[in-house]
Amino acid sequence: MCRHLAHVGPTPVTLASLLTEPSHALLVQSYAPADMRGGGTVNADGFGVGWYVSDLPSHGSKDRSRGPALYRRDDPMWTDASFLDLARAVETTALVAAVRSATVGMPVSTAACAPFRDSADGGRLFSHNGVVRGWPHSMADLAGTLAPVDLLTLDAATDSALLWALVRARLAAGKDPADALAGVVADTLAAAPGSRLNLLLGDGEQIVATAVDHALSYRVRPDGAVTVASEPLDDDAAWVPVPDGSLLVARAGAPHVPPAVTVTAL
Ligand code: GLN
Repeated sequence: MCRHLAHVGPTPVTLASLLTEPSHALLVQSYAPADMRGGGTVNADGFGVGWYVSDLPSHGSKDRSRGPALYRRDDPMWTDASFLDLARAVETTALVAAVRSATVGMPVSTAACAPFRDSADGGRLFSHNGVVRGWPHSMADLAGTLAPVDLLTLDAATDSALLWALVRARLAAGKDPADALAGVVADTLAAAPGSRLNLLLGDGEQIVATAVDHALSYRVRPDGAVTVASEPLDDDAAWVPVPDGSLLVARAGAPHVPPAVTVTAL
């Protein structure tokens, strides 16, 4: 099962401080994950990171018109020396990242690697850790609720890309991000019982995540930053496991202003 991570904070941090430097960074989780309960042994079928660029001096602090930058590859993260170098130099206040273990039968390609991105409302980033049981047949009816053009423009022929299209349709219909994820989880579990549905959605300021039959933890920092990750990035006692069957919503705080994190039952 893939591993994913999202972060929002009041001040910029390097990509490396989350993705490559910690003792159990996403880089380590790509070749030595601790919890692969859904099958697979390594996350070597590609990786991706999307990060918000609003802190560039040339942008206004609230100008997200360019949307998040996206770097994805269909190679293992550890083989991409240029990315490991880039990660030390790039800073951001918010990102979504993932390393992929392709589900059997699904294509290995850059376009199938999370995070997936849209351009609505400044740009959202989405990741799915898990599997939809019986895909694609189990999802035929749900897919039929989408506009034909949404199906024609799926990012990839994968369960994750279809889930992202279903989330986008709910967002476009005016659902808030938490309702959109919860609705897609409910509909998918009804259509495909036993699915593993750890979903992750970021917009640069807020993280919404579900824990459905797979691991998820979060950590808040004294400076007001929040990180949500499939597996804790280190042995810091501040990591809090998210109970199975939960919806997490997190927004960054500031120094002396704690982040807002809520965990509710789905
Ligand atoms: N099923 C998704 C894919 O193939 C996610 C895989 C995973 O979580 N291991 O991309």
